[in-house]
Amino acid sequence: MGQPTWQVLVDFHACEGKRACVDICPTDVFEMQPTTVRNPLFRLKIKIHGGLQAVPVNAEACIGCMECVKACPELAVAVDPVRVG
Ligand code: SF4
Repeated sequence: MGQPTWQVLVDFHACEGKRACVDICPTDVFEMQPTTVRNPLFRLKIKIHGGLQAVPVNAEACIGCMECVKACPELAVAVDPVRVG
């Protein structure tokens, strides 16, 4: 049996860019990037923290430890096993 793979999702209408996931992830799955959210109210909220949000650019490196899920103060990160076959 191969290694399980994981789907890493960030809710960009919840992420406030506090980078808890970036700092805690042992495999550097996340990267801070300029927000792509269009809603002006959300943009304003995100701007307070520098206009950046955490993007799972390296999701294939996820080991499913769930540290990011526990660390996010906005409950914006979801990590789920990917079913194969
Ligand atoms: S579950 Fe663990 S390895 Fe996967 S993205 Fe979150 S902190 Fe990183």
